[in-house]
Amino acid sequence: MSTTKHEVKQVKKPASSAAKKSAASATSAKRAAAKNAAAKKATAKKAARGTADAGSAKKHATPAARSSTKQKMAPPALALEKLREMHPDAHCELDHVGPFQLLVATVLSAQTTDVNVNKATPKLFERFPDARSLAQADPTDVEPYVSTLGFFRQKAKSIVGLSKKLVEEFGGEVPRRLDDLVKLPGVGRKTANVVLGVIWNTPEGVVVDTHVQRISQRLGWTKNTDPVKIEQDLMHLIPRNEWDMTSHLLIFHGRRVCFARKPNCEGCALNTICPSAFDAEHVGRKPKRDRSA
Ligand code: SF4
Repeated sequence: MSTTKHEVKQVKKPASSAAKKSAASATSAKRAAAKNAAAKKATAKKAARGTADAGSAKKHATPAARSSTKQKMAPPALALEKLREMHPDAHCELDHVGPFQLLVATVLSAQTTDVNVNKATPKLFERFPDARSLAQADPTDVEPYVSTLGFFRQKAKSIVGLSKKLVEEFGGEVPRRLDDLVKLPGVGRKTANVVLGVIWNTPEGVVVDTHVQRISQRLGWTKNTDPVKIEQDLMHLIPRNEWDMTSHLLIFHGRRVCFARKPNCEGCALNTICPSAFDAEHVGRKPKRDRSA
């Protein structure tokens, strides 16, 4: 059947409009999909940035903003778990063989570092290996072996004195009770608990040295500055069977990460739970000595 020019135009017109419509709708679907994808990408980016920047945001927030959001205390169980992961080899760093050597090394460690003590004790213990040999010495004979340590004259006197008492009252052995230990010359509660904890895992308290003191305050575990009161706070917070390891972990952490002057909060696994994170320089530091007097 033949068609006129007019008829052809009439037939073609509706066909071309449908095609246009369908092309337009395909384009708008494409645009919507692209818009959707872009929105998804932006959300994902934002979420990722949010996680990655959590520490950084805390780091750069003003102290006032930080204190409005931070928690008051790092949960002790979680903090100890993280510390264990960071310092799986935490232990007493005074070199010793047996309770007598540890007792002497701990007395010598007052006001000095374990590293210094470890340099002095090998020769000391070679010459005086046990309580009986040290009990027979005159303090002046012992002084040359400990002369690199602060207060060495007093310390020489103490270790000879405690050896004599061990021989006279305890058959040359180190007693296992805190009450007996603290009666020995130069031995206080802290030294006694080091020996009880390290040798027998039966401490009667938590050893509080300068690191334990500082980090306990930074973690919000205590507000006290007196070691005896800090020890009481820690004994309430931490289960007894963890007292010994808690001291080692905090001492390890203080020597390697949570330094007094510049704590490495960035590299610390506790920085999401520690109330002092990124703002710890002034927490737990000893007050500056007044040298004007
Ligand atoms: S290093 Fe920083 S985050 Fe870690 S315990 Fe010390 S103050 Fe807290």
